[in-house]
Amino acid sequence: MSNALERLRSKLTGRDDEVVEASFNDYQLSSELLKAINLLGFTSPTPVQAQVIPAVLKQKDIIVKSQTGSGKTAAYAIPICELVDWEENKPQALIVTPTRELAIQVKEDVFNIGRFKRLKVSAVYGKSPLTYQIKELKQKTHVVVGTPGRIIDHLERGTLDTSQIKYLVIDEADKMLDMGFIEPIETIITSLSKKRVTLLLSATMPKDIEVLCNKYLKEPIYAEIAEQNPVIDRISQERYTVDRQDKLKLLSDITIVENPDSCIIFCNTKQTVDEVYQGLQKLKYTCEKIHGGMEQRDRLRVMNDFKLGSFRYLVATDVAARGIDVEDISLVINYDLPLDSEIYVHRIGRTGRQNKQGKAITFVTRYENKFLAAIHQYIGKEIPLKERPERETVSDSQQEFEEKTKAIPEMKATKGAELSKEILKLHINAGKKTKMRPVDIVGTLCSIPGMTAADIGIINIRDISTFVEILNNKGKFVLEELQKTPIKGRLRKVSKAER
Ligand code: AMP
Repeated sequence: MSNALERLRSKLTGRDDEVVEASFNDYQLSSELLKAINLLGFTSPTPVQAQVIPAVLKQKDIIVKSQTGSGKTAAYAIPICELVDWEENKPQALIVTPTRELAIQVKEDVFNIGRFKRLKVSAVYGKSPLTYQIKELKQKTHVVVGTPGRIIDHLERGTLDTSQIKYLVIDEADKMLDMGFIEPIETIITSLSKKRVTLLLSATMPKDIEVLCNKYLKEPIYAEIAEQNPVIDRISQERYTVDRQDKLKLLSDITIVENPDSCIIFCNTKQTVDEVYQGLQKLKYTCEKIHGGMEQRDRLRVMNDFKLGSFRYLVATDVAARGIDVEDISLVINYDLPLDSEIYVHRIGRTGRQNKQGKAITFVTRYENKFLAAIHQYIGKEIPLKERPERETVSDSQQEFEEKTKAIPEMKATKGAELSKEILKLHINAGKKTKMRPVDIVGTLCSIPGMTAADIGIINIRDISTFVEILNNKGKFVLEELQKTPIKGRLRKVSKAER
């Protein structure tokens, strides 16, 4: 038994005196993975990772009952990135997520972890051009992340080759069930070879999910991660009673007094999001909005900018409530009381991530007591009722609030920033139309003194251009050399890629 498992067992059996924290070095991961894990700032495995990583490395099916924020994505991404074979061109792992936002985030997480192993990860989801996805799937792809509908679309068109899929992950299975995705999930499962490892992750285990597990998982290990410090207890919660027409004024008073560095304001409908957004804009807040009625491209841009910290206030419907991983949100405001208790927990869980303290404030109108009572029952305690801030308190806080509003927000580093530091992406002015192939690029690059295949990252050949990543701080040198080195018989225009 590995050291990590030994320690875990002693934890489970309560032999606390013997508990030593698990380490990523216990799993015999490749140096490429350990380097990425280290640069991502993961010092030791979270409890879910300590259970899932060794099991998947041993090719075991596993059911994981665990919340977002527990490090569950890396728990499956690490062993999958370790196990996939770089040489194989067809996809070897398929990760199914209920929402587009989660698919994009998982893609990013897997890409970061597999960065130094040079893994290619594609995301396929709806409301995004099929043609681009088809082109991407035609190229070398190790891992595919997608939403059920679009995956099935690709399966039916024959544009997603599943013949080499050895790992299937069904993430947020309970959410899939809520969204009516169980049948599509079964269609996807049955299109894959039985010789595969299946992982299913879910925050709750309703009957239908159990049935699915019994039907398709082989002697699965069951991992339930009891939260040591439940999110509910980590978040200080307050509520205010308010009339509907007075909500915007209360929102303004509270944000002035709280003066958060970053804040999500949740509304129940797109219309309210639009109203609140306009209201805050009039008050000169640095804010953006996100709801399901917006173009996917705009939603992505807003989420990215929010992650980077380029504005402080995000007004959102529940599309932004689940699974989305933005660090350091100091305050969540429920402008509208969620009508479903579970949604309340997901919304407030956007703050207090990774064991940090957070704050959640909820507005309740006098007609909503029934829903409030349901939430109280669900979370097992009463949210303390507060008096709205006195006019004096608000005016005392005004100056500090205005200073922060005027200040340029401090940009947060993206999770992958550390990993990208020693990588330079180059653009070559030639592509498929001039019959450029990966082997032409690799051949030229390896002819440059001091360059080996290990210094070449992902190569992406488009119609009239090619993108190639140069690793290990050699980018600048390679860029200079390529100004005088022909590729496929001709000197090409080579420059630093814009993106
Ligand atoms: P998830 O539960 O997958 O949404 O992950 C929540 C957050 O935890 C993400 O920001 C991860 O980057 C981060 N994370 C995952 N594993 C670790 C780890 N071992 N140590 C520190 N942070 C981690």
